[in-house]
Amino acid sequence: MQVNRILIKDAAYVITMDEKRRIISGGSILIENDRIAAVDKTIDVSQVDVDSVIEAKDMVITPGFINGHCHISYAHATRGIFPDDLGDDYLVNVFRLQDSMTADEELWTSLLAITELLSYGTTTIMDPGSTKSVDVCLDAYERSGIRMITGVQLTDTGNPYRMTVYSHDQALRVTESFISQYNGALDGRLYAWAMPFSPEYVAGELLGELKVLSDQFNVGCTLHVNKAGSSMPDGIDEPPIIALERYGFVGSNVTLAHCVGLSDEEINCLASTNTALITCPTNVVKNGGGYGQNFPLAELIKAKVRVGIGTDAGNNSNLLETNRAMYLAAVLIKDATGDPAQIPAEKALELATIDGAKALGLESQIGSLEVGKKADIVMYDTLRPEWQSLFNPVNSLVYNADGRSVKTVLVDGRVLIEDYVPRFVDTEKLIRRVQAFGSDMMKRNNVSFPPKWPMI
Ligand SMILES: [Zn+2]
Repeated sequence: MQVNRILIKDAAYVITMDEKRRIISGGSILIENDRIAAVDKTIDVSQVDVDSVIEAKDMVITPGFINGHCHISYAHATRGIFPDDLGDDYLVNVFRLQDSMTADEELWTSLLAITELLSYGTTTIMDPGSTKSVDVCLDAYERSGIRMITGVQLTDTGNPYRMTVYSHDQALRVTESFISQYNGALDGRLYAWAMPFSPEYVAGELLGELKVLSDQFNVGCTLHVNKAGSSMPDGIDEPPIIALERYGFVGSNVTLAHCVGLSDEEINCLASTNTALITCPTNVVKNGGGYGQNFPLAELIKAKVRVGIGTDAGNNSNLLETNRAMYLAAVLIKDATGDPAQIPAEKALELATIDGAKALGLESQIGSLEVGKKADIVMYDTLRPEWQSLFNPVNSLVYNADGRSVKTVLVDGRVLIEDYVPRFVDTEKLIRRVQAFGSDMMKRNNVSFPPKWPMI
């Protein structure tokens, strides 16, 4: 088999996120096909053919960021339309617009979200089942080259959100056939999981059986938990995580999303069952959820619960930049506790990389720059004002830089973003197309939220 080699040479710093958390100044990386073959201060390539060399002077290099919860198929088309005071009507309108989307609209809207994510340094995402036409959107996943987890969003009870309601047996069948068809597709970059929506709209018995199904197929499963701490999903007075344990929907291949309001009892349950969770601070703060007061990030880390970060959707967080979510995770607990030592920069960067990989069960493949792992690599150009002065690349990345400085991005050893430009799409054409979709979706659904100031 022919080996394609890329040498990334002489970076200012390579932040490896390996076991020892080595930061290599003047570091280089050798890639062979889709994997990292060497990461070191100097790499001897005199005995091998190198197909291309990427000069990395003044670059800080990290593993690709991992966004463990972001809906990509609908939000970009009507992003930013919702006023801050919409209240409970917000979700109903979101789902109404989404429900009306054609497969073609989903495809290009997904590609725009992926373009944003990759451009700002996110190389792996979990789309939690809300894409209706994965068969069509596969084209966006394939042409962009992103690594992603997806599935079919399941409910088995009536809901105000127009989500498809499946019978118990249908839900199992649909999930089984989706996993059989898609898990491992796109040269292994596509992972298919079981994706029930939330404990409010999926019966406990079905949740338990979906977990068993996931075990059988050796894949993961995910679930929104929006009201941790106190709610009663099936009318029994127990918090959701405890109910999930009773249903059997906990364990090493379960990744829950959100979980604001967790009680100590629930944290202990997550820890003892090795259940992971994804926190989405951008969503919580925009909705006035009191992140620092209500999300026990420090306690979860102390209890050794696997935690990663996500951004939820582009119309409730309004941004999908994992870097900004990482920043919020770093600062909000400090702010709420008055203790600047909480969630240090190093921990925040772990959440976006190796911890995120662990929360998705993918740490043997991604999350750090180590020999044998997938070559999912982000290169930040530090010759920019926000990176200067540069003495501690972790502090600078977490607290002062963001996705604007992402210059080059590789996934599976393929260059997807080069000199700030996506290689896989004409971005301007894509933007104009999705803007037109949004106008049309609002018109045909009679949805309109004009800006509050006069637009003349
Ligand atoms: Zn979600």
